[in-house]
Amino acid sequence: MLKPDSTIGILGGGQLGRMLALAAARLGFKCHVFAPNPDAPAFDVVHRVTTADYTDTAALDRFAGDVDVITYEFENVPAETATFLAARKRVLPDPKVLAITQDRAIEKEFIGGLGIAVTPFARVDHEERIAAALDRIGRPAVLKTRRFGYDGKGQSMIRDGADLGAAWRDIGGQPAVLEAFVQFEREVSVVAARSRTGEVECFDLTENEHRDHILKVSRVPANVPQNVADEARGIGEAIAGAFDYVGVLAVEMFVVPSPRGLRLLVNEVAPRVHNSGHWTLDGASISQFEQHIRAVAGWPLAKPLRRGRVEMINLIGAEVDDYAQWLAVPGASVHLYGKAHARAGRKMGHVTRVFEE
Ligand code: AMP
Repeated sequence: MLKPDSTIGILGGGQLGRMLALAAARLGFKCHVFAPNPDAPAFDVVHRVTTADYTDTAALDRFAGDVDVITYEFENVPAETATFLAARKRVLPDPKVLAITQDRAIEKEFIGGLGIAVTPFARVDHEERIAAALDRIGRPAVLKTRRFGYDGKGQSMIRDGADLGAAWRDIGGQPAVLEAFVQFEREVSVVAARSRTGEVECFDLTENEHRDHILKVSRVPANVPQNVADEARGIGEAIAGAFDYVGVLAVEMFVVPSPRGLRLLVNEVAPRVHNSGHWTLDGASISQFEQHIRAVAGWPLAKPLRRGRVEMINLIGAEVDDYAQWLAVPGASVHLYGKAHARAGRKMGHVTRVFEE
């Protein structure tokens, strides 16, 4: 167990790093954030910062020397960076998890290999393979880059009569997967924490509503029967166990009607704290951020209790200007990330609302 005055190193300096650092401070830890951009939101609230590229080995070496354990808030940290650091200091979760989750094809094959259903998909390494993949998967389908996609970026929808060359160019002509477009009833996610000694604690299943591919509202508890919520929790536990994971991860799933009742299909795994877990900051006895810090510090996990029915609303782009109205709403808490420019589609803050059940 790390002592409370230890230093936790965080790779990535976005809002997730900022909220991790705030949670770490509550437990008496110091944080050192490593991020390439000088205006990283996490820099405002931490003990020490390094502004350097993820490939700057001299800076990485100094960073590793200054911290007691290393974690990340950003899953696209280059695998070589994580391996370089792991040779010097403990990196949690283990970098091998990044290698799996950075690639949609490898991630889906790994999860499918655990006997867990994923969205039907086919690998598409070249433009000429799209037609054969469509024959297998059917239409409509979504072509997604294997790497570096987020919030709907690197995705192209293929409907009847679509120009396949245009879809390929749309995603930048990179190795991809073709996924069936799922007619889901709703989207849910399970946020699970696993300790260094293998205990798992899940937060209550969250229902997520996206707008323009970006999470807009999360609601807890998800409006699904108890057996579906239990199954989702089981999926989170199984994936965390299979990764020998330490820390918090999120599993996003589609709830799909079928003749045999509701089915869960895994869409993707985020090996980090997740936007759909922000409600825990005000809606649970411990947040996902504090739970993650406990796990990487080798502390026992908390048993989270929910404080009522909860909603989390993202403030995206210019919506951040509404913050003053939210301040007056009973049961609402406002969280702003300190970002200077409210570009369209950029997550600027969020509001959590707690309602008595
Ligand atoms: P992703 O970047 O894969 O998480 O996709 C972002 C959002 O796009 C998802 O949360 C869904 O709302 C939607 N989406 C992605 N893939 C599919 C799919 N195969 N079928 C239906 N909706 C999808």
